[in-house]
Amino acid sequence: MSCLSVIVPVHNEAAGIARFHERLQQVLRSLDMDSDVLYVDDGSDDGTAEQVAALSADDAQVGYLRLSRNFGKEAAMSAGLDHVAGDAVVIIDGDLQDPPELIVEFVAQWRAGYDVVYGRRSSRDGESWLKRQSASWFYRVLDRLSDVPIPRDVGDYRLLSRRAVEALRRLREQHRYMKGLFAWIGYPQKAVPYARAPRADGRSKWNYGRLWNFALEGITSFSAAPLKLATWLGLITSVGAFAYGLYFLLRTLLLGNPVPGYPSLVVIILFLGGVQLVCLGIIGEYLARTYNESKGRALYFVQDYQPGRTRGGSDSPTGAADKQEANQQGAADESLA
Ligand code: UDP
Ligand code: MG
Repeated sequence: MSCLSVIVPVHNEAAGIARFHERLQQVLRSLDMDSDVLYVDDGSDDGTAEQVAALSADDAQVGYLRLSRNFGKEAAMSAGLDHVAGDAVVIIDGDLQDPPELIVEFVAQWRAGYDVVYGRRSSRDGESWLKRQSASWFYRVLDRLSDVPIPRDVGDYRLLSRRAVEALRRLREQHRYMKGLFAWIGYPQKAVPYARAPRADGRSKWNYGRLWNFALEGITSFSAAPLKLATWLGLITSVGAFAYGLYFLLRTLLLGNPVPGYPSLVVIILFLGGVQLVCLGIIGEYLARTYNESKGRALYFVQDYQPGRTRGGSDSPTGAADKQEANQQGAADESLA
């Protein structure tokens, strides 16, 4: 029987994790397939790690992976992907913003032959107008610039087939814009609409500073178009300067030269200075990322690892548990490569 692995990246979710776990368990029990759960504790400092370890001690189906510090959700998800062995893998947030009930539909679509089944948010309750608007602008820009179409209004909540997971595991870049990577691997993909609930407990780790970096990450990871901006700006200003020069030449020849133009001179100098700094900044963004990639560091380090045992679904006896564990151990050994 096929097996579903559920990865839950958590960072300081102590307030709501018990409730989340309860709802997730209900869904998994109703599935007619084996399943295991892996919580990835991403350097929490509010007791999440202890709670997760307790869940795992209570229930052999639940495993946990504790990273050595906070590496960010992208790295936490990658760590999860490196350590699960299911034929299908679901990634879900631990704050109940992604309804676990949707997993049933994900599995149905996976059985229908899709490799990547993702949740598309049909509503964004509990988010401010500014956040919704800036998200919409960002996705529009990214859509224009990116080489692969990256679906809009889509989070990380999704199901991946085994071959999609294997594909993702081969992308070891440091700057991980996961939504883009999920799209980049290709394979048949399918969207399932859902209403995204407001956060149940705690608060979002996103602020506008982090969102700005996230947007830069998305654009620089999937497009080199901003680098070409300098060329175009340079061309346009050169043509403008040439026309302006011609105008002055003719004016001086026809009307003489009373030496006017101090304000226009200042404006032009400031404008060109600004354009040059912006272009340098863009080059810098790409250079810094190239530098980071060139260091080739590991994506994360594991402090503690307890694999979960596969457990049978609603109408199946458990059989593959031991084999499962052996597989997971294998995955763990490779993870730091
Ligand atoms: N998360 C994580 N590491 C981080 C930040 C967040 O593993 O550094 C987890 C967090 O616990 C949650 C999920 O990623 O399960 C989504 O985070 P959050 O709710 O802050 O993001 P949002 O839902 O606002 O996009
Ligand atoms: Mg959230």
